[in-house]
Amino acid sequence: MKVTEHIEKAKGKTLFSFEIVPPQKGKNIQELYDNIDPLMEFNPPFIDVTTSREEHIYIKRDDGLLERKITRMRPGTVGICAAIKQKYDVDTIPHVLCGGFTKEETEYVLVDCHYLGIENVMALRGDAMKHQRYFEPTKGGHIYANELVGQIRDLSKGKYLNEVIDSENHPDFCIGVAGYPEKHLESPSLETDLKKLKAKVDAGADYVVTQMFFNNQAYFEFVEKAKEMGINVPIIPGIKPIAVKKHLQLLPHVFSIDLPQALIESVEACKNNKEVRQVGIEWAIEQTKELKAAGVPVLHFYSMGKSSNIKQIAEAVF
Ligand code: FAD
Repeated sequence: MKVTEHIEKAKGKTLFSFEIVPPQKGKNIQELYDNIDPLMEFNPPFIDVTTSREEHIYIKRDDGLLERKITRMRPGTVGICAAIKQKYDVDTIPHVLCGGFTKEETEYVLVDCHYLGIENVMALRGDAMKHQRYFEPTKGGHIYANELVGQIRDLSKGKYLNEVIDSENHPDFCIGVAGYPEKHLESPSLETDLKKLKAKVDAGADYVVTQMFFNNQAYFEFVEKAKEMGINVPIIPGIKPIAVKKHLQLLPHVFSIDLPQALIESVEACKNNKEVRQVGIEWAIEQTKELKAAGVPVLHFYSMGKSSNIKQIAEAVF
């Protein structure tokens, strides 16, 4: 089922969902199942699976010298979506990126998804690779996510890259896109960023999932401004519980988000990361209780590994 249909069917009740990251290649999918299993009691109607950019790694050669290679360390998004969909009977949402993929490769990924009965995709630009200062588009790929949304939407009309195919069986995906309550790090202003978000919705996006935020006011104001701009699709809040002290520097640096002073002080007062994890859980419980009371359609959690903290939050809120 499509995300928008799940939301409609819930008739105002807030749903629970989460995002997982594929294991590094060479590891076992069982790790993922072990993290998903405890969360299934909260009946997620859908689970997102991220896609990772390729990155530079260094491999030691036989002569002892290091050789630089470009590789994708966490491949397997569509395969994982298919496996989880079958094992848990849940909708899965592969993330599809501009960066690292040509338009042709994207078309093949989308056709695979269609054959596997996947009805939703999340369309994203992707970040710069670690060694790059700015995002550089892949040759033959899209530059911005709104173009990718356009390609995905075209498929439902039978418009493939090189031909128009007259048939009844075209992929008609429900498309999610990213939104940034505190603006995307490259955008000169929130207003400009919202205009770009509107372009994604105008290109055919059906819903928005936000970047993580720790101050609900930022989300409420973002939703208000988006509505004023004519963005009338569901805006799903993305929630990440702080888990380690290092997050105080890492999250603002990587995602260009602010952390509330009260949260910073509580984390700083912790003697170890076990205590930090508890502070993160308690903060997220307060945050999500308020969001649920405000009637958000879905609470979407970034799990990134061990899910025990998300389970504790869900137990307190659902
Ligand atoms: P875009 O919407 O293309 O925006 C990128 C920047 O360009 C913004 O500053 C925007 O304002 C500007 N812009 C947009 N359109 C135009 C235009 N037409 N002309 C000029 N400027 C424009 N990354 C991954 O690598 N894998 C994932 O699985 C993944 N999942 C994510 C899930 C969520 C919910 C979120 C919020 C982010 C995720 N990301 C993921 C990170 C995302 O790829 C980065 O934040 C990326 O830098 C921007 O992606 P976007 O789709 O928002 O890009």
